[in-house]
Amino acid sequence: MPTLLPTAIVGSLPKPSWLAEPETLWSPWKLEGDALVEGKRDALRSAVHEQRRRGIDIISDGEQTRQHFVTTFIEHLTGVDFEQRETVRIRDRYDASVPTVVGAVSREKPVFVDDARFLRQQTDRPIKWALPGPMTMIDTLYDRHYRSREKLAWEFATILNQEARELEAAGVDIIQFDEPAFNVFHDEVRDWGVATLERATEGLHAETAVHICYGYGIKANTDWKATLGSQWRQYEHSFPLLQRSTIDIVSLECLHSHVPMELIELIRGKKVMLGAIDVASDSIETPEEVADTLRNALRFVDADKLIPSTNCGMAPLSRDVALQKLSALSAGAAIVREEVDDTVSMASQPILGTG
Ligand SMILES: [Zn+2]
Repeated sequence: MPTLLPTAIVGSLPKPSWLAEPETLWSPWKLEGDALVEGKRDALRSAVHEQRRRGIDIISDGEQTRQHFVTTFIEHLTGVDFEQRETVRIRDRYDASVPTVVGAVSREKPVFVDDARFLRQQTDRPIKWALPGPMTMIDTLYDRHYRSREKLAWEFATILNQEARELEAAGVDIIQFDEPAFNVFHDEVRDWGVATLERATEGLHAETAVHICYGYGIKANTDWKATLGSQWRQYEHSFPLLQRSTIDIVSLECLHSHVPMELIELIRGKKVMLGAIDVASDSIETPEEVADTLRNALRFVDADKLIPSTNCGMAPLSRDVALQKLSALSAGAAIVREEVDDTVSMASQPILGTG
C-alpha cells in the first residue's frame, strides 16, 4: 500500500453475467436461495481479486451483494412498504415508481455487516464500505408517515449510524455515504443535509467519506448534465459546508465533467477522492490522461490528501471496460506518485557545502 496517492473506486463494479443481467441498473438476480448467497460471495471475492490485480489500494466490495446502492439498504428496514408504490420525481430529474413510508422507520437487524466481515476476510488492505446518505435515501421514497423530508432524514441518519458503527466493528476502515442529492437540493444541504450526515457518522473512529456526483451514466442523468451549462458549480454550495464539517474525505467527479478544478480549494484540509475515470463512457482513459487530471488537482489539494478514484460507480459498464479502467487508474496514479516522491526527496535533501 503506497503512502501517497492510494487508489480507490467509488462503489459499484459490474456484476458477473451469471449473477445478474449485465450493464443494467436494478438488474434482477439470476440465482435464488442458497445459490444466490453463494453467488454473491463469489462475485465479491472476484471483485476483490480484480481490484488487487489491477493495483487498487483501498478495496471495496464492488456492491456485488446489492441490487442498488439505495434501494437494497431500504429494503431491510421496517416502516417502508415496497408493495405500495407512488411515482415521484427523483433528484428533481426523472420520475420513478418508489416504495412508500407507511410507519416509523427502523433497522431491526444489520444490513451489510456480514458482507463487510466477509470482505474483511478477503484482504489485508484497507477496506471501504458505501452506504446511501440520508438525503439521497429520502429522495427515493414517497413519505406518507412523517410528511417531512427533514424529519425522515434525521430518522435515517440514526439508522445509518447504527449500521456504520457495526461496519466499523467488522473492520471497515473507511465508511462512505453516497449523497448525489447534495448536488441538487442546495437549500436543504445547508439547512439540515450536512447536519444529518454528521449525525450518521457520530462516534465513529473509522474515516468517513461523502460521495457527491452527477450520477451514473444513464440517460436521465446525461440529459440533465446537458442543461447545466459550461461550468458545473454545484459543488460550490456544499463544499464550504463540508470543509467545516466532521467528514474526513470528499469524493467528487472530475474527468470530462464541467466541474472547475479550482472548486477543490473550497475543501482544503480534507482528503479528496478525485474522479479521474469517466464512468459514462466506454473509452478507456490512458495512464497519461489520468496523470494529467491528478497533476491538475494537485494545484488545489496536498499530495498526502489525494486519493485517485473513479467519477462514480461502474455498475452500468461492461465488465471488461470497467476492469481496464481500473488498470488505467492505478497506472496513472503510479506516474504521478513517482513525480511527487521525487519532489519530496529533492526538497528534503540537505544542502551540501562546496568548500
Ligand atoms: Zn456517484
